[in-house]
Amino acid sequence: MRYARPNDRRTGSGSIPPEVLYHLELSRQKAESTKTREMHCPMCGYLVQIIPVTQTEIVFVKCHKCKFTGALDPAYFRRVKRLSAYNEQLRKYASRKIR
Ligand SMILES: [Zn+2]
Repeated sequence: MRYARPNDRRTGSGSIPPEVLYHLELSRQKAESTKTREMHCPMCGYLVQIIPVTQTEIVFVKCHKCKFTGALDPAYFRRVKRLSAYNEQLRKYASRKIR
């Protein structure tokens, strides 16, 4: 019989070590009481990361849609809307100003 190491992920879901399941459950419980917010790609608006609202540390993200890779400071990217939506808002605002 082969010896399966505890962190050998190739053994399949039937043999997840009990301590991993325990830590997963603890994580899930902790996450339930954590307020989160979504971080979106600054280039295309795709959801790249979900972080706790209290997090102020730099987040390293990789966008799976446009392949943007980089560090985002949560302080500067509080409400990043989809760029096209933002541009549309700007256009509306600008056209209202002109008239
Ligand atoms: Zn992107």
